[in-house]
Amino acid sequence: MKITIVGSGYVGLVTGACLSDVGIDVTCVDVDQNKIDNLEKGILPIFEPGLDQIVNRNSKKGRLKFSTDLRGSIVDSQAVFIAVGTPPGDNGDADLKYVLEVSDQIGKLMNDYLVVITKSTVPVNTAEKVRIVISNALKERKKYFDFDIVSNPEFLKEGAAINDFMNPDRIVVGLDSIKAKQVIDKIYRPFTLNGNPIIYMDIPSAEMTKYASNAMLATRISFMNDIANLSELVGADVNMVRKGMGSDPRIGSKFLYPGIGYGGSCFPKDVKALARKGQEKGHPMRILEAVELVNEDQKILLFNKIKKHFGGDISKKTIAFWGLSFKPKTDDMREAPSVVIAKLLLKEGANIRAYDPVAMEEAKHELGDTIRYCKSELEAIQGADALALITEWAEFRLPNWDEIGKLMANKVVFDGRNLYNVTDFKDHGFDYYGIGTKNNH
Ligand code: NAD
Repeated sequence: MKITIVGSGYVGLVTGACLSDVGIDVTCVDVDQNKIDNLEKGILPIFEPGLDQIVNRNSKKGRLKFSTDLRGSIVDSQAVFIAVGTPPGDNGDADLKYVLEVSDQIGKLMNDYLVVITKSTVPVNTAEKVRIVISNALKERKKYFDFDIVSNPEFLKEGAAINDFMNPDRIVVGLDSIKAKQVIDKIYRPFTLNGNPIIYMDIPSAEMTKYASNAMLATRISFMNDIANLSELVGADVNMVRKGMGSDPRIGSKFLYPGIGYGGSCFPKDVKALARKGQEKGHPMRILEAVELVNEDQKILLFNKIKKHFGGDISKKTIAFWGLSFKPKTDDMREAPSVVIAKLLLKEGANIRAYDPVAMEEAKHELGDTIRYCKSELEAIQGADALALITEWAEFRLPNWDEIGKLMANKVVFDGRNLYNVTDFKDHGFDYYGIGTKNNH
Protein backbone atom coordinates (compact mmCIF):
# COMPACT_ATOMS: atom_id res chain seq x y z
CA MET A 1 0.00 0.00 0.00
CA LYS A 2 1.31 3.45 -0.88
CA ILE A 3 0.39 6.65 0.89
CA THR A 4 1.39 10.31 0.61
CA ILE A 5 1.39 12.67 3.56
CA VAL A 6 1.37 16.37 2.72
CA GLY A 7 2.91 18.50 5.46
CA SER A 8 5.85 17.01 7.36
CA GLY A 9 5.50 18.85 10.66
CA TYR A 10 4.50 17.33 13.97
CA VAL A 11 1.41 15.54 12.76
CA GLY A 12 2.57 14.66 9.24
CA LEU A 13 5.91 13.30 10.36
CA VAL A 14 4.52 11.24 13.23
CA THR A 15 1.75 9.88 11.00
CA GLY A 16 4.15 9.07 8.17
CA ALA A 17 6.73 7.47 10.44
CA CYS A 18 4.19 5.32 12.30
CA LEU A 19 2.40 4.20 9.12
CA SER A 20 5.73 3.24 7.54
CA ASP A 21 6.63 1.31 10.69
CA VAL A 22 3.74 -1.11 10.10
CA GLY A 23 4.79 -1.72 6.51
CA ILE A 24 3.05 0.97 4.48
CA ASP A 25 5.08 2.68 1.77
CA VAL A 26 4.97 6.36 2.78
CA THR A 27 6.21 9.56 1.19
CA CYS A 28 6.16 12.65 3.38
CA VAL A 29 5.93 15.78 1.26
CA ASP A 30 6.63 19.34 2.37
CA VAL A 31 7.16 22.70 0.67
CA ASP A 32 10.05 23.43 3.01
CA GLN A 33 13.10 22.25 1.06
CA ASN A 34 15.38 22.66 4.05
CA LYS A 35 13.13 20.45 6.19
CA ILE A 36 13.08 17.75 3.52
CA ASP A 37 16.88 17.93 2.96
CA ASN A 38 17.40 17.52 6.71
CA LEU A 39 14.91 14.66 7.00
CA GLU A 40 16.74 12.88 4.20
CA LYS A 41 19.90 13.19 6.28
CA GLY A 42 18.06 11.89 9.36
CA ILE A 43 17.81 15.33 11.00
CA LEU A 44 14.34 15.90 12.47
CA PRO A 45 12.67 19.33 12.63
CA ILE A 46 11.13 18.62 16.05
CA PHE A 47 12.03 16.92 19.29
CA GLU A 48 9.64 14.06 19.95
CA PRO A 49 10.75 11.09 22.08
CA GLY A 50 11.27 7.96 19.97
CA LEU A 51 10.48 9.59 16.63
CA ASP A 52 14.07 9.71 15.36
CA GLN A 53 14.50 5.94 15.74
CA ILE A 54 11.30 5.20 13.80
CA VAL A 55 12.17 7.70 11.07
CA ASN A 56 15.71 6.41 10.66
CA ARG A 57 14.71 2.74 10.79
CA ASN A 58 12.08 3.11 8.08
CA SER A 59 14.11 5.51 5.92
CA LYS A 60 16.88 2.90 5.82
CA LYS A 61 14.40 0.24 4.80
CA GLY A 62 13.15 2.52 2.02
CA ARG A 63 9.58 2.53 3.33
CA LEU A 64 9.69 6.16 4.40
CA LYS A 65 10.71 8.78 1.86
CA PHE A 66 10.81 12.55 1.91
CA SER A 67 10.17 14.84 -1.01
CA THR A 68 9.06 18.30 -2.10
CA ASP A 69 7.50 16.78 -5.21
CA LEU A 70 3.83 15.96 -4.68
CA ARG A 71 3.45 15.03 -8.34
CA GLY A 72 6.00 12.24 -8.04
CA SER A 73 4.44 10.67 -4.96
CA ILE A 74 0.73 11.07 -5.68
CA VAL A 75 0.90 9.03 -8.90
CA ASP A 76 0.59 5.60 -7.33
CA SER A 77 -0.77 6.54 -3.88
CA GLN A 78 -4.10 5.11 -2.76
CA ALA A 79 -4.56 7.80 -0.15
CA VAL A 80 -3.25 11.28 0.62
CA PHE A 81 -3.25 12.71 4.12
CA ILE A 82 -3.41 16.49 4.42
CA ALA A 83 -1.43 17.42 7.55
CA VAL A 84 -0.50 21.05 6.94
CA GLY A 85 -0.92 23.83 9.49
CA THR A 86 -4.21 25.62 10.18
CA PRO A 87 -3.01 28.69 12.11
CA PRO A 88 -5.47 31.26 13.44
CA GLY A 89 -6.40 33.93 10.91
CA ASP A 90 -6.83 37.62 11.83
CA ASN A 91 -10.33 37.06 13.26
CA GLY A 92 -9.42 33.89 15.22
CA ASP A 93 -10.93 31.59 12.59
CA ALA A 94 -8.71 28.73 11.36
CA ASP A 95 -6.81 29.85 8.27
CA LEU A 96 -7.48 27.21 5.61
CA LYS A 97 -5.04 28.68 3.08
CA TYR A 98 -2.61 25.76 3.24
CA VAL A 99 -5.28 23.05 3.33
CA LEU A 100 -7.01 24.48 0.25
CA GLU A 101 -3.70 25.05 -1.57
CA VAL A 102 -2.89 21.38 -1.09
CA SER A 103 -6.41 20.37 -2.18
CA ASP A 104 -5.98 22.34 -5.39
CA GLN A 105 -2.63 20.65 -6.05
CA ILE A 106 -4.19 17.25 -5.43
CA GLY A 107 -6.90 18.01 -8.01
CA LYS A 108 -4.25 19.13 -10.46
CA LEU A 109 -2.05 16.08 -10.01
CA MET A 110 -4.19 13.03 -9.19
CA ASN A 111 -4.55 10.48 -11.94
CA ASP A 112 -6.75 7.75 -10.46
CA TYR A 113 -9.27 7.14 -7.66
CA LEU A 114 -7.92 8.69 -4.47
CA VAL A 115 -8.94 8.92 -0.83
CA VAL A 116 -8.13 12.40 0.48
CA ILE A 117 -7.88 12.41 4.27
CA THR A 118 -7.79 15.65 6.27
CA LYS A 119 -5.74 15.18 9.39
CA SER A 120 -5.21 18.89 9.96
CA THR A 121 -7.63 20.33 12.52
CA VAL A 122 -10.24 22.05 10.37
CA PRO A 123 -13.59 23.70 11.12
CA VAL A 124 -16.82 21.90 10.38
CA ASN A 125 -17.65 21.89 6.66
CA THR A 126 -14.04 22.21 5.53
CA ALA A 127 -14.27 18.76 3.91
CA GLU A 128 -16.89 20.22 1.59
CA LYS A 129 -14.54 23.05 0.65
CA VAL A 130 -11.77 20.53 -0.01
CA ARG A 131 -14.14 18.50 -2.19
CA ILE A 132 -15.14 21.55 -4.24
CA VAL A 133 -11.55 22.72 -4.74
CA ILE A 134 -10.45 19.28 -5.95
CA SER A 135 -13.50 18.95 -8.24
CA ASN A 136 -12.83 22.37 -9.75
CA ALA A 137 -9.19 21.54 -10.40
CA LEU A 138 -10.22 18.27 -12.06
CA LYS A 139 -12.85 20.08 -14.16
CA GLU A 140 -10.21 22.50 -15.40
CA ARG A 141 -8.14 19.53 -16.52
CA LYS A 142 -11.26 17.95 -18.03
CA LYS A 143 -10.49 14.85 -15.97
CA TYR A 144 -13.18 13.14 -13.95
CA PHE A 145 -11.36 10.77 -11.59
CA ASP A 146 -13.40 9.60 -8.67
CA PHE A 147 -12.23 10.61 -5.19
CA ASP A 148 -13.52 10.54 -1.61
CA ILE A 149 -12.97 12.93 1.26
CA VAL A 150 -12.38 11.60 4.76
CA SER A 151 -12.03 13.54 7.99
CA ASN A 152 -9.57 11.86 10.36
CA PRO A 153 -8.64 14.33 13.10
CA GLU A 154 -5.46 13.70 15.04
CA PHE A 155 -5.46 13.41 18.85
CA LEU A 156 -1.76 12.86 19.53
CA LYS A 157 -0.14 14.54 22.51
CA GLU A 158 3.21 16.16 21.85
CA GLY A 159 5.78 14.38 24.01
CA ALA A 160 3.82 11.10 23.81
CA ALA A 161 2.94 11.21 20.12
CA ILE A 162 4.39 7.85 19.10
CA ASN A 163 2.55 5.91 21.76
CA ASP A 164 -0.64 7.84 21.04
CA PHE A 165 -0.43 6.96 17.36
CA MET A 166 0.62 3.35 17.83
CA ASN A 167 -1.87 2.65 20.65
CA PRO A 168 -4.73 5.08 20.08
CA ASP A 169 -7.60 5.38 22.56
CA ARG A 170 -9.76 5.76 19.49
CA ILE A 171 -9.44 6.69 15.84
CA VAL A 172 -12.16 9.09 14.74
CA VAL A 173 -13.11 8.87 11.08
CA GLY A 174 -15.78 10.82 9.24
CA LEU A 175 -16.70 9.55 5.79
CA ASP A 176 -19.57 8.99 3.40
CA SER A 177 -18.28 6.23 1.11
CA ILE A 178 -17.87 2.46 1.48
CA LYS A 179 -14.91 2.49 -0.88
CA ALA A 180 -13.09 5.01 1.34
CA LYS A 181 -13.98 2.97 4.42
CA GLN A 182 -12.20 -0.04 2.96
CA VAL A 183 -9.04 2.01 2.47
CA ILE A 184 -9.25 3.45 6.00
CA ASP A 185 -9.84 -0.02 7.47
CA LYS A 186 -6.72 -1.25 5.71
CA ILE A 187 -4.53 1.67 6.81
CA TYR A 188 -5.56 1.42 10.45
CA ARG A 189 -5.91 -2.35 10.83
CA PRO A 190 -2.41 -2.70 12.37
CA PHE A 191 -3.31 -0.14 15.01
CA THR A 192 -6.63 -1.67 15.98
CA LEU A 193 -5.53 -5.29 16.46
CA ASN A 194 -5.55 -4.82 20.23
CA GLY A 195 -9.15 -3.69 20.18
CA ASN A 196 -8.59 0.05 19.88
CA PRO A 197 -11.75 1.23 18.16
CA ILE A 198 -12.24 3.20 14.99
CA ILE A 199 -15.29 5.36 15.56
CA TYR A 200 -16.96 5.98 12.23
CA MET A 201 -19.30 8.92 11.80
CA ASP A 202 -20.40 11.51 9.28
CA ILE A 203 -17.80 14.05 8.19
CA PRO A 204 -19.07 17.20 10.02
CA SER A 205 -19.31 15.22 13.28
CA ALA A 206 -15.69 14.06 12.95
CA GLU A 207 -14.54 17.63 12.31
CA MET A 208 -16.52 18.84 15.33
CA THR A 209 -15.24 16.00 17.56
CA LYS A 210 -11.68 17.33 17.34
CA TYR A 211 -12.63 20.88 18.34
CA ALA A 212 -15.01 19.73 21.05
CA SER A 213 -12.29 17.49 22.56
CA ASN A 214 -9.64 20.21 22.67
CA ALA A 215 -12.17 22.75 23.90
CA MET A 216 -13.19 20.43 26.74
CA LEU A 217 -9.57 19.90 27.82
CA ALA A 218 -8.84 23.63 27.68
CA THR A 219 -12.03 24.24 29.69
CA ARG A 220 -10.87 21.88 32.43
CA ILE A 221 -7.56 23.73 32.63
CA SER A 222 -9.13 27.19 32.84
CA PHE A 223 -11.75 25.93 35.28
CA MET A 224 -9.05 24.58 37.59
CA ASN A 225 -7.02 27.77 37.25
CA ASP A 226 -10.07 29.74 38.39
CA ILE A 227 -10.64 27.33 41.29
CA ALA A 228 -6.94 27.59 42.20
CA ASN A 229 -6.95 31.38 42.26
CA LEU A 230 -10.06 31.46 44.44
CA SER A 231 -8.66 28.71 46.69
CA GLU A 232 -5.65 30.89 47.39
CA LEU A 233 -7.87 33.81 48.38
CA VAL A 234 -10.05 31.78 50.74
CA GLY A 235 -7.26 29.75 52.36
CA ALA A 236 -7.90 26.43 50.58
CA ASP A 237 -5.17 24.38 48.90
CA VAL A 238 -5.98 23.44 45.32
CA ASN A 239 -3.70 20.40 45.49
CA MET A 240 -6.08 18.93 48.06
CA VAL A 241 -9.18 20.16 46.24
CA ARG A 242 -7.94 18.54 43.02
CA LYS A 243 -7.41 15.19 44.69
CA GLY A 244 -10.81 15.33 46.33
CA MET A 245 -12.54 16.23 43.08
CA GLY A 246 -10.59 13.83 40.87
CA SER A 247 -11.46 10.80 42.94
CA ASP A 248 -15.06 11.13 41.73
CA PRO A 249 -15.19 8.86 38.67
CA ARG A 250 -17.67 11.22 37.02
CA ILE A 251 -14.94 13.89 37.10
CA GLY A 252 -11.73 11.84 36.85
CA SER A 253 -8.25 13.00 37.85
CA LYS A 254 -6.80 13.99 34.46
CA PHE A 255 -6.42 17.60 33.36
CA LEU A 256 -7.20 19.01 36.78
CA TYR A 257 -3.79 20.61 37.26
CA PRO A 258 -3.69 24.37 37.65
CA GLY A 259 -0.67 26.22 36.29
CA ILE A 260 0.39 29.19 34.24
CA GLY A 261 -2.11 28.72 31.43
CA TYR A 262 -2.33 26.39 28.47
CA GLY A 263 -0.17 26.96 25.39
CA GLY A 264 1.05 24.93 22.45
CA SER A 265 0.01 24.66 18.86
CA CYS A 266 -3.52 23.38 19.45
CA PHE A 267 -5.56 24.51 22.46
CA PRO A 268 -5.19 28.29 21.98
CA LYS A 269 -5.98 28.24 18.27
CA ASP A 270 -8.69 25.58 18.45
CA VAL A 271 -10.54 27.32 21.30
CA LYS A 272 -10.37 30.57 19.32
CA ALA A 273 -11.58 28.90 16.13
CA LEU A 274 -14.55 27.21 17.82
CA ALA A 275 -15.54 30.42 19.59
CA ARG A 276 -15.27 32.21 16.25
CA LYS A 277 -17.45 29.59 14.58
CA GLY A 278 -20.07 30.15 17.30
CA GLN A 279 -20.09 33.89 16.62
CA GLU A 280 -20.34 33.30 12.89
CA LYS A 281 -23.35 31.04 13.40
CA GLY A 282 -25.07 33.42 15.84
CA HIS A 283 -24.43 31.09 18.77
CA PRO A 284 -21.72 32.68 20.93
CA MET A 285 -19.75 30.00 22.79
CA ARG A 286 -19.85 31.83 26.11
CA ILE A 287 -18.01 29.17 28.09
CA LEU A 288 -15.17 29.07 25.58
CA GLU A 289 -14.88 32.82 25.49
CA ALA A 290 -14.44 32.74 29.28
CA VAL A 291 -11.95 29.86 28.98
CA GLU A 292 -9.79 32.04 26.77
CA LEU A 293 -10.01 35.09 29.04
CA VAL A 294 -9.08 33.04 32.11
CA ASN A 295 -6.13 31.61 30.21
CA GLU A 296 -4.85 35.03 29.18
CA ASP A 297 -4.95 36.17 32.81
CA GLN A 298 -3.29 32.97 33.99
CA LYS A 299 -0.30 33.55 31.73
CA ILE A 300 0.51 36.77 33.62
CA LEU A 301 -0.13 35.38 37.11
CA LEU A 302 3.46 34.33 37.83
CA PHE A 303 4.72 37.73 36.70
CA ASN A 304 2.30 39.44 39.09
CA LYS A 305 3.38 37.19 41.96
CA ILE A 306 7.07 37.90 41.28
CA LYS A 307 6.49 41.64 41.08
CA LYS A 308 4.45 41.70 44.27
CA HIS A 309 7.10 39.71 46.16
CA PHE A 310 9.69 42.33 45.29
CA GLY A 311 7.46 45.21 46.39
CA GLY A 312 6.58 46.27 42.84
CA ASP A 313 10.13 46.89 41.63
CA ILE A 314 11.87 44.11 39.71
CA SER A 315 14.33 46.23 37.74
CA LYS A 316 17.78 44.63 37.79
CA LYS A 317 16.40 41.54 39.52
CA THR A 318 17.64 38.30 38.00
CA ILE A 319 15.00 35.63 37.57
CA ALA A 320 16.00 32.05 36.78
CA PHE A 321 13.62 30.10 34.53
CA TRP A 322 13.53 26.34 34.73
CA GLY A 323 11.84 25.25 31.53
CA LEU A 324 10.69 27.23 28.49
CA SER A 325 8.63 24.84 26.34
CA PHE A 326 4.85 24.95 26.74
CA LYS A 327 4.96 21.50 28.34
CA PRO A 328 7.60 18.84 29.08
CA LYS A 329 9.03 16.38 26.54
CA THR A 330 8.71 18.78 23.63
CA ASP A 331 10.68 21.69 22.21
CA ASP A 332 7.46 23.32 20.99
CA MET A 333 7.39 26.99 21.96
CA ARG A 334 4.15 27.91 20.18
CA GLU A 335 2.02 30.07 22.52
CA ALA A 336 4.24 29.06 25.44
CA PRO A 337 3.41 30.99 28.66
CA SER A 338 7.18 31.37 29.22
CA VAL A 339 7.33 33.91 26.40
CA VAL A 340 4.57 36.07 27.90
CA ILE A 341 6.13 35.95 31.37
CA ALA A 342 9.63 36.64 30.05
CA LYS A 343 8.52 39.64 27.99
CA LEU A 344 6.67 41.18 30.96
CA LEU A 345 9.68 40.71 33.25
CA LEU A 346 12.09 42.11 30.67
CA LYS A 347 9.87 45.15 30.08
CA GLU A 348 10.18 46.01 33.77
CA GLY A 349 13.96 45.76 33.67
CA ALA A 350 14.50 42.24 35.05
CA ASN A 351 17.14 39.86 33.68
CA ILE A 352 16.38 36.24 32.87
CA ARG A 353 18.69 33.24 33.03
CA ALA A 354 16.93 30.24 31.54
CA TYR A 355 17.55 26.54 31.17
CA ASP A 356 15.40 24.07 29.25
CA PRO A 357 16.56 20.55 28.40
CA VAL A 358 15.50 20.76 24.74
CA ALA A 359 13.63 23.96 23.87
CA MET A 360 16.36 26.62 24.00
CA GLU A 361 17.02 26.69 20.25
CA GLU A 362 13.29 27.06 19.55
CA ALA A 363 13.00 29.68 22.30
CA LYS A 364 15.60 31.80 20.49
CA HIS A 365 13.06 32.31 17.67
CA GLU A 366 10.69 33.89 20.19
CA LEU A 367 13.02 35.62 22.64
CA GLY A 368 16.26 36.06 20.67
CA ASP A 369 19.13 37.22 22.84
CA THR A 370 16.92 39.11 25.31
CA ILE A 371 17.46 36.37 27.88
CA ARG A 372 20.53 34.36 28.84
CA TYR A 373 20.45 30.68 27.89
CA CYS A 374 22.26 28.45 30.39
CA LYS A 375 23.74 24.98 30.06
CA SER A 376 22.18 23.55 33.21
CA GLU A 377 19.59 24.28 35.87
CA LEU A 378 22.37 25.08 38.31
CA GLU A 379 23.99 27.56 35.95
CA ALA A 380 20.59 29.26 35.57
CA ILE A 381 20.19 29.91 39.28
CA GLN A 382 23.73 31.29 39.83
CA GLY A 383 23.23 34.63 41.59
CA ALA A 384 19.48 34.66 40.81
CA ASP A 385 17.07 36.68 42.94
CA ALA A 386 14.26 34.19 42.29
CA LEU A 387 13.59 30.86 40.63
CA ALA A 388 10.51 30.45 38.43
CA LEU A 389 9.54 26.87 37.61
CA ILE A 390 7.94 27.23 34.19
CA THR A 391 7.87 23.71 32.69
CA GLU A 392 7.57 20.59 34.82
CA TRP A 393 10.37 18.56 33.21
CA ALA A 394 11.06 15.38 35.21
CA GLU A 395 14.63 16.48 35.95
CA PHE A 396 13.35 19.47 37.96
CA ARG A 397 11.29 17.33 40.33
CA LEU A 398 13.70 16.73 43.20
CA PRO A 399 16.24 19.54 43.45
CA ASN A 400 18.77 19.80 46.23
CA TRP A 401 17.43 22.96 47.86
CA ASP A 402 20.44 23.35 50.16
CA GLU A 403 22.82 23.45 47.21
CA ILE A 404 20.47 25.73 45.29
CA GLY A 405 20.07 28.11 48.22
CA LYS A 406 23.84 28.57 48.33
CA LEU A 407 23.98 29.53 44.64
CA MET A 408 21.08 31.98 44.64
CA ALA A 409 21.33 35.59 45.79
CA ASN A 410 17.83 35.41 47.25
CA LYS A 411 15.93 32.27 48.25
CA VAL A 412 12.49 32.40 46.65
CA VAL A 413 10.71 29.94 44.36
CA PHE A 414 7.71 30.72 42.14
CA ASP A 415 6.31 27.34 41.20
CA GLY A 416 4.18 27.71 38.07
CA ARG A 417 3.22 24.03 38.01
CA ASN A 418 2.79 23.10 41.67
CA LEU A 419 5.67 20.70 41.24
CA TYR A 420 6.85 21.39 44.77
CA ASN A 421 5.17 21.69 48.12
CA VAL A 422 5.62 24.36 50.74
CA THR A 423 6.86 21.65 53.14
CA ASP A 424 9.76 20.84 50.74
CA PHE A 425 11.23 24.20 51.75
CA LYS A 426 10.59 23.96 55.49
CA ASP A 427 14.20 23.60 56.60
CA HIS A 428 15.85 25.44 53.74
CA GLY A 429 14.80 29.04 54.38
CA PHE A 430 13.07 29.63 51.03
CA ASP A 431 9.98 31.66 50.31
CA TYR A 432 7.61 29.58 48.21
CA TYR A 433 4.69 30.53 45.95
CA GLY A 434 2.56 27.93 44.21
CA ILE A 435 -0.64 28.31 42.17
CA GLY A 436 -3.68 28.17 44.45
CA THR A 437 -1.70 26.52 47.22
CA LYS A 438 -1.11 27.34 50.83
CA ASN A 439 2.14 29.30 50.59
CA ASN A 440 4.30 30.62 53.37
CA HIS A 441 2.96 34.12 52.66
P1 NAD B 1 3.48 22.06 11.62
O1 NAD B 1 3.54 23.55 11.47
O2 NAD B 1 4.44 21.39 12.54
O3 NAD B 1 3.61 21.38 10.18
C1 NAD B 1 2.92 21.79 9.05
C2 NAD B 1 3.80 21.51 7.84
O4 NAD B 1 3.06 21.73 6.65
C3 NAD B 1 5.02 22.43 7.75
O5 NAD B 1 6.18 21.65 7.67
C4 NAD B 1 4.79 23.22 6.45
O6 NAD B 1 6.00 23.52 5.77
C5 NAD B 1 3.95 22.24 5.67
N1 NAD B 1 3.19 22.83 4.56
C6 NAD B 1 2.49 23.98 4.50
N2 NAD B 1 1.93 24.15 3.29
C7 NAD B 1 2.27 23.07 2.55
C8 NAD B 1 2.01 22.66 1.21
N3 NAD B 1 1.26 23.42 0.39
N4 NAD B 1 2.51 21.50 0.80
C9 NAD B 1 3.27 20.75 1.61
N5 NAD B 1 3.57 21.08 2.88
C10 NAD B 1 3.07 22.23 3.36
O7 NAD B 1 1.98 21.75 12.07
P2 NAD B 1 1.47 20.54 13.00
O8 NAD B 1 1.70 20.86 14.43
O9 NAD B 1 1.94 19.26 12.43
O10 NAD B 1 -0.10 20.67 12.76
C11 NAD B 1 -0.70 20.29 11.52
C12 NAD B 1 -2.20 20.22 11.74
O11 NAD B 1 -2.51 19.18 12.68
C13 NAD B 1 -2.82 21.48 12.31
O12 NAD B 1 -4.10 21.65 11.76
C14 NAD B 1 -2.92 21.19 13.79
O13 NAD B 1 -3.96 21.90 14.41
C15 NAD B 1 -3.24 19.71 13.78
N6 NAD B 1 -2.84 18.99 15.00
C16 NAD B 1 -1.63 19.24 15.60
C17 NAD B 1 -1.27 18.53 16.74
C18 NAD B 1 0.03 18.80 17.44
O14 NAD B 1 0.18 18.34 18.58
N7 NAD B 1 0.98 19.50 16.86
C19 NAD B 1 -2.13 17.55 17.26
C20 NAD B 1 -3.33 17.30 16.62
C21 NAD B 1 -3.67 18.03 15.48
